[in-house]
Amino acid sequence: MAMKKKRQRNKKPRKQRVRKWLNRLKEKWQAFRQWQERPYEVAPLSDEQHECCTCHTVYTGNFCPRCGQSARIRRYSFVVAFLNFMDVWGLGNRGMFRTIRDLLLRPGYMIRDYLNGMQMAYFPPFKMFFLLTTLSILVTHGFNIQGRTVGDEIAPVPQEIVVNSPEMLPEAETAPTDPNSEQVEVIIHKYYHFLEVFSEKVNNFQKRFPSLFALFGLMLLACPFYLFFRKCPNIPDLRFSEFFVALVYINNMYTIFTIVTDFFCLNDLDGLLLFSMLIPLKQLTGYRWWKVILYPLLALLLMLAALILCIFLSVVAIGVM
Ligand SMILES: [Zn+2]
Repeated sequence: MAMKKKRQRNKKPRKQRVRKWLNRLKEKWQAFRQWQERPYEVAPLSDEQHECCTCHTVYTGNFCPRCGQSARIRRYSFVVAFLNFMDVWGLGNRGMFRTIRDLLLRPGYMIRDYLNGMQMAYFPPFKMFFLLTTLSILVTHGFNIQGRTVGDEIAPVPQEIVVNSPEMLPEAETAPTDPNSEQVEVIIHKYYHFLEVFSEKVNNFQKRFPSLFALFGLMLLACPFYLFFRKCPNIPDLRFSEFFVALVYINNMYTIFTIVTDFFCLNDLDGLLLFSMLIPLKQLTGYRWWKVILYPLLALLLMLAALILCIFLSVVAIGVM
């Protein structure tokens, strides 16, 4: 009896403790949500008087109005040296670290702020895109913990699937030799030749200009996506150029994730991480979740339909030639 009472007494505080802990967690989450949505705040203007170390102008504010030097120049330190070193690649200024942090923690709201004109606060999207693509190529070509190149482990394509010319097609041997099927054969032959030349050219271009190739792909992707996102609740008059910049930032976020997974050779996660791109779309557009999931699927279907149409048209064009 006494034991039971004691257990009951123990149970109550534990329940209370769990509730208290949950409440605190809820408060933290709400504070985090508020922080996510609040635009970035620039530090207040200093009203202290400074004398510029370079041109000796006396002024109030954060920067010298004559030569532009920061008022916060201190003695040379390793931090300053590191920032100077990063500046060689244009990384030491304009909040590269803030942009990375915001892209990971509040991507959609950060893009909203950037589109609203807060451009000094964030690292420029295209510059970041080229830098991240270069880093990503380095990581997938040996700069990772196993020192291996991604794609090396893929087994060679089985011989049965490789079809270089219509002669290797089984139907080609058994087809009756009426003029119609001969014509079809010629078209197939021409089409394979066209595909071979085309894919070789695309491959060469991708090898020579990987960042440009990725940017071009992103622009193609932006077209069908824009159809569904151009009239979203948060930005009802979203321009295509703005949406494209948003996609570049979203792609930058994804590249940061994949650089980390590829560095640790966890490449299998890359496909799963694609879903993370829905979060900035949700935060930026303000659509409900079901729309954020459905619209990209529809956009991809539309793209597939366009691809099939392109193949069909190219076959027709080759047949006519
Ligand atoms: Zn000065």
